[in-house]
Amino acid sequence: MALAFDEFGRPFIILREQEQKTRLRGLDAQKANIAAGKAVARILRTSLGPKGMDKMLQSPDGEVTITNDGATILEQMDVDNQIAKLMVELSRSQDYEIGDGTTGVVVMAGALLEQAQKLLERGIHPIRVAEGYELASRISFEHLERIAHKFEFSGADAEPLIRTCMTTLSSKIVNRCKRSLAEIAVKAVLAVADLERRDVNLDLIKVEGKVGGKLEDTELIYGIVVDKDMSHPQMPKQIEDAHIAILTCPFEPPKPKTKHKVDIDTVEKFQTLRQQEQKYFDDMVQKCKVIYFCIFFCLNIVLFDRVFDGDSLDWDTVYESSGIGEPITYTRSKKRKEASPSSSSRKASRTTTTSRKGKGQLGKGRLATVVEERELVDEELEDEEVGDEEEGSTSLEDDDIDEDEDNYLVEDDYDVGATLVICQWGFDDEANHLLMHRNLPAVRWVGGVELELIAIATGGRIVPRFQELTTEKLGKAGLVREKAFGTTKDRMIYIEHCANSRAVTIFIRGGNKMMIEETKRSIHDALCVARNLIRNNSIVYGGGSAEISCSIAVEAAADKYPGVEQYAIRAFADALDAIPMALAENSGLQPIETLSAVKSQQIKENNNCCGIDCNDVGTNDMREQNVFETLIGKQQQILLATQVVKMILKIDDVISPSEY
Ligand code: ADP
Repeated sequence: MALAFDEFGRPFIILREQEQKTRLRGLDAQKANIAAGKAVARILRTSLGPKGMDKMLQSPDGEVTITNDGATILEQMDVDNQIAKLMVELSRSQDYEIGDGTTGVVVMAGALLEQAQKLLERGIHPIRVAEGYELASRISFEHLERIAHKFEFSGADAEPLIRTCMTTLSSKIVNRCKRSLAEIAVKAVLAVADLERRDVNLDLIKVEGKVGGKLEDTELIYGIVVDKDMSHPQMPKQIEDAHIAILTCPFEPPKPKTKHKVDIDTVEKFQTLRQQEQKYFDDMVQKCKVIYFCIFFCLNIVLFDRVFDGDSLDWDTVYESSGIGEPITYTRSKKRKEASPSSSSRKASRTTTTSRKGKGQLGKGRLATVVEERELVDEELEDEEVGDEEEGSTSLEDDDIDEDEDNYLVEDDYDVGATLVICQWGFDDEANHLLMHRNLPAVRWVGGVELELIAIATGGRIVPRFQELTTEKLGKAGLVREKAFGTTKDRMIYIEHCANSRAVTIFIRGGNKMMIEETKRSIHDALCVARNLIRNNSIVYGGGSAEISCSIAVEAAADKYPGVEQYAIRAFADALDAIPMALAENSGLQPIETLSAVKSQQIKENNNCCGIDCNDVGTNDMREQNVFETLIGKQQQILLATQVVKMILKIDDVISPSEY
């Protein structure tokens, strides 16, 4: 603090910034940090295990979450303290790497901090404690590998996988349906897994939920479910053998931006603008359904080949080579155009020209003529289209569809392109109406992640620019259907029998939103466990048995260290006991008595599968209870918890802004 004077001689005080801050040093800093870490761990301790309690959290906007998932609880807690934030990060890291064991890792870290505090109070330097913890964590890591078991499973016999997922689900709210949910999770993982490479891409599994129905109605769909409906209620609800255009570009006429000004002072100008907009969109729809470019390309290649071969060309070859197969109505001649300008005669000419038979043989000299003819016909098609709209089809009502169908050039003959459009953008009512008239079903406002999944599942390509749409980029699905739920207007789109069946959807049903969200989190844990087992099929037994076994091993190893570290190593062994104690306490058992009984049983019977009988099954043997955990998950828990505690112990100076 210093006294200074301004240019008018008025005194003022300069406070140095440091003095506005509170500062904790040495043991005080460590004690404060340990207290913060322990406080977070205490919150999660009661949620551990199959009998763990749930937490109800309310977000600032009033949304309520009920869960016992450690990562979710910490995520939603409004934590201010920096050390508490480290614990939140710890749980998040476990979730990110392994997906399960998020509560256990924080409880373990809390226990390590508690033991460290006792050592610090006895005068042991924090660095020695940190070193001892590091040694003990390595001993535990190796011991876990020794007591791990391999369990065999295959695509055909997935029962062991299902049982492991059931262990994960047994501690969740959804444990009523743990068998069926575990089966769904395993089937989903196996559907997207590459068992040879031992790799699972969980991104291919979409988890979708809808309020209504029972948890038992949750199902696995080999395809994608999108929480959207057809853009128009009169569009078909079911499309078989769908060819899907997946667009991330707007699917409507360009709208004038705010910075542009359009003066419309007469009805005619307005009509013209409207017609132009409509024509623009018509062209887009036409492009979706008929892929001009492809047909041209294929035709030209075939014709070109034939010119060089000097062969005569017959139209059947052209159709077959171009992959179209079906006759198309592009071959109307110039003469015919002149002769048949009216709508009714167009219909007649279409009938006559759709037959490719009788076209005769085309020789070398016809190449130029054919291409010219096609260009002319394209022009003609466009002219006709505009003409039709001008003739009064601009304001079609739904009832007019049948009468006006012939006014449109799109007939089934042309349907060699998309039969469904899925668009990331929306389109306005007029565009929607036109799409319905053009018999091109569409789904709008589909999210980016969903589009990616649809593209993967259907083998299609996401098209960011409309001009780039080609037949090869269309996705294929055996069945696309719109399903209605309950008596509400809730509808969802199911895309099934896809070209690439490796993308699947788990569709969760439940009584309320909270239940659905909690089921999603539980399924996520089960999916992660199944994935971890496919990557590495080693398991350790749960119910605290692995921790008790490690604790015995670490305790025994402590005596071999002559230095102060042995205190820290023993403290680590005591911290490992915190997990079975918490499991026992949460199950209504006497923690210390239960732990000592199980520990002595492990030593006496030399059976490292003895754990806490949380569900009162009648046996302590977790092998008999089928309570497994993945080896990598358990190892990661111990490593991550030790790292965070070491980090906290090494902080001896805490400078923070003081509270006024
Ligand atoms: P986390 O988020 O850490 O996975 P959970 O609440 O899922 O926490 O609890 C996991 C702990 O509960 C593990 O130690 C596991 O072994 C144990 N556990 C799960 N099911 C049982 C059971 N049926 N009997 C005994 N322990 C169980």
